[in-house]
Amino acid sequence: MRTFDPNTIFYTPDALNERGLKVLLAYPEASREEIAQHNRLPELEANHYKVKSDVLVLGRLKTLTCRESGRSSDFVSPSLANGCFGACAYCYVDRNKRVNPITLFTNTEEILGAVDKHVYKQVWPKMPNQTHGLYYTYDIGCNSDISIDATLSDSVQTAVAFFRNHPRAMATFATKFVNPDLLTYDPQGKTRIRFSLMPARVSKLVDVRTDSIEARLAAINDFYQAGYEVHVNFAPVILYEGWLDDYRELFERLNEVVHPDVKAQMQSEVIFLTHHYGMHQMNLELNPKAEQLLWTPDQQEYKRSQWGGLNIRYQHQLKAQLIEDFKQLQQEVIPWCTIRYIF
Ligand code: SF4
Repeated sequence: MRTFDPNTIFYTPDALNERGLKVLLAYPEASREEIAQHNRLPELEANHYKVKSDVLVLGRLKTLTCRESGRSSDFVSPSLANGCFGACAYCYVDRNKRVNPITLFTNTEEILGAVDKHVYKQVWPKMPNQTHGLYYTYDIGCNSDISIDATLSDSVQTAVAFFRNHPRAMATFATKFVNPDLLTYDPQGKTRIRFSLMPARVSKLVDVRTDSIEARLAAINDFYQAGYEVHVNFAPVILYEGWLDDYRELFERLNEVVHPDVKAQMQSEVIFLTHHYGMHQMNLELNPKAEQLLWTPDQQEYKRSQWGGLNIRYQHQLKAQLIEDFKQLQQEVIPWCTIRYIF
């Protein structure tokens, strides 16, 4: 995994608890600047990529709301962090911000306290559903990549310990990185890691600064051995000439590398590409090769997102066919890897 080594740290005074101070001390060479609000940064000169690799923000999350999800999890927990060191060309976390460096929220205990309060308001026992048969599932990595956040502080380790001991809740997150430190966190089956996978040659174009697909595949058995539930996240699925052949190759590789015990518990989720007009404009300048794969208006239709942004996704009828093709291939090559949901 490439190391995140910020040279500029912005912080709000209320972020400097013990955890926040430790992070500040971990980067003695970085310049530091106090700011009033974590989501109002001073004007930054550098471009999207540079800001993500050079800047870290420390803040205290004040809005501690758990949101309904219903797909990858029952709920989305308040964010441990927002923003990412990676710069994937389709990333939805980056869509609505001019610049999006990692903002680490240092009040982890308050965030987990909000999850605890929330889960005790839910009916118990839980009605089993595709996210889990017994526990309420909380996605802790919807606005960042948890594997990177774990290199910055003990917040992820604290969260894994919280869920390990919780009688009603479990954690889940998708990742495009392999952080071996997580192997020491002892989740005891109460954290589900979902490795994101796509054909390697496409990943090389659209996944910026992430770990390779081969590295993610190679980590699967180790994470299971270390006590994680391990699923895979086929996202985003991108349509191009030969896409299904590439997925066949990926499925065959998955079939080869995953140990039978891991196969017995592994499930998947499949999300076809949705792209964003603002990202499209930025990619034309920063990553035009990736954009050729992502922006194919003759196959796509516009959709206004619930946040008001203009997105495009594959045309309805075309997508129905793509979903059928994907499901058929999964049944043929990796029938053991049940699809929890596909859209
Ligand atoms: S790794 Fe995930 S959060 Fe980070 S840029 Fe890529 S898609 Fe976004």
